[in-house]
Amino acid sequence: MIFIVDEALVEQARRFRLLYACESCAMFDPDSGNCSLEYPNEEHRAEPLRVGGHLVFCKEFEAR
Ligand code: SF4
Repeated sequence: MIFIVDEALVEQARRFRLLYACESCAMFDPDSGNCSLEYPNEEHRAEPLRVGGHLVFCKEFEAR
């Protein structure tokens, strides 16, 4: 799912400490940086949210 990042999303992510990136997912292998389910994960890795940018949320995300 692709979200366009706006100021409200940035604020809510900060306030509620939203988890959405591979680094917070149970399927993430921190040693390799890859997804253990072998999904391409370049778009799901942690990056600061930028207003006007995109957040590409993985449907298989499962918080650790
Ligand atoms: S399941 Fe999705 S969010 Fe989790 S590590 Fe794999 S690509 Fe990242």
